[in-house]
Amino acid sequence: MSQTIYLTEDLYDYLLSHSLRESAVARRLRRETSKHERASMQISPDQAQFMALLVKLICARRTLEIGVFTGYSALVVALALPADGEIVACDVSEEWTSTARRYWREAGVDQKITLHLAPALETLTHLIDNGQEGTFDFAFIDADKENYGRYHECCLKLVRQGGLIAIDNVLWGGRVLDVSVRDEETQAIRRLNKALHQDPRVDISLVPVGDGLSLLRKK
Ligand code: CA
Repeated sequence: MSQTIYLTEDLYDYLLSHSLRESAVARRLRRETSKHERASMQISPDQAQFMALLVKLICARRTLEIGVFTGYSALVVALALPADGEIVACDVSEEWTSTARRYWREAGVDQKITLHLAPALETLTHLIDNGQEGTFDFAFIDADKENYGRYHECCLKLVRQGGLIAIDNVLWGGRVLDVSVRDEETQAIRRLNKALHQDPRVDISLVPVGDGLSLLRKK
């Protein structure tokens, strides 16, 4: 059976050393966050670069970021946006996002990013109620997994036709397969993956980058 190559550590290092173009600020943020107790919540640098490429390919100007953490993905996406680009970012942690803000300022992209410190569903509902449907080109969903289905529904409204929704952690360290794992987060990811496979409103590709990234193009 032909299938996606298995990346050993050496091969992954090769991949990075032959493709990664990371800004010095982004690298410093990634290094600082790697010491954080929740470091695994940070996406891999090759995934961030892949998303930046997608954002450029679709000529995105306005994007949504659901789940900021310490701001690495937003920083890399912001650098890929045009000068008048804008990210509407959602998170609930003042502490985590204070690191994000510091690096966004340092990279000179802070004026592109509007951070809403509130439950993302509140922020997204507010955007929908304020006539912002169809005004976003790209959305990155990487927050509490229990709400993934709801975030996806909101993003389907907020993203324009032909726009892109990227959902992180859809392979969940392989736990999607392990029937002995039955916690709420894992079940929510399984439910969403099953639903997305059948969702006629989007074109789909589940890309095995990072912890699994589902790409959904709104039809
Ligand atoms: Ca993630």
